[in-house]
Amino acid sequence: MHDEPATLLVVEDDAAVRTFLADNLTADGYEVLVAETARDAVRQLEYAHPDLALLDIGLPDQTGFEVLRRIREADASASRIDPGLPVILLTGRAGELDRIRGFDRGADDFLPKPFSYGELHGRIRALLRRCRTRRGGGRLRVGDLEVDSLSRQVRLRGRPLSLSGKEFALLRALAVEPTRVWTKEELLRDVWGYRSRGATRTLDSHACRLRAKLAVDGDVYVVNVWGVGYRLIDGPLAVAA
Ligand code: CA
Repeated sequence: MHDEPATLLVVEDDAAVRTFLADNLTADGYEVLVAETARDAVRQLEYAHPDLALLDIGLPDQTGFEVLRRIREADASASRIDPGLPVILLTGRAGELDRIRGFDRGADDFLPKPFSYGELHGRIRALLRRCRTRRGGGRLRVGDLEVDSLSRQVRLRGRPLSLSGKEFALLRALAVEPTRVWTKEELLRDVWGYRSRGATRTLDSHACRLRAKLAVDGDVYVVNVWGVGYRLIDGPLAVAA
């Protein structure tokens, strides 16, 4: 559906890391733009319109947090910068505080250095998929369940189900990668927005209602992974009679 290569912006002042990332991402088929400073990054964001940014926090002129703030506060109609741009923060300072700061400012993901290229690449792929779905990319199918992002309709074995807006958003977030366990933090960010960090009871009650609505024929679609989060199963579990 989306075969054209994604354009990634790599914002990193360390020349060795920057070159390493640019070389590998190019080899993996992405169009790569690079920026060494916050100022360069903003210019690239305004004029080159990348699909995703990898943003180092420690930059020579401003912090990556500042660049992220510029992105998220951009006025979608007046600015050249897309306020919904997917952003992965990269940092040498792996503290919990930076992680929370990053999510509070609207980062989509966070990877402490040193990271493995394989892990970074996996996260880039997952985030691009998630964002394409979020932006209206078509129909997802999980077992006998069909989730249509455009019409916001859900069908189970062809029968339409009536879900609330948040139940639908939760199901769609899970359905992007049906066998993956999504943490509560990720789901809260994707469904309720990053500001509602901590409201896990809201998530749990919606997940419980969604699970009940999908269980019309006794199927278990929404699985609670205790202490972590939720996942869908790839098709209904066979329930022994
Ligand atoms: Ca740096």
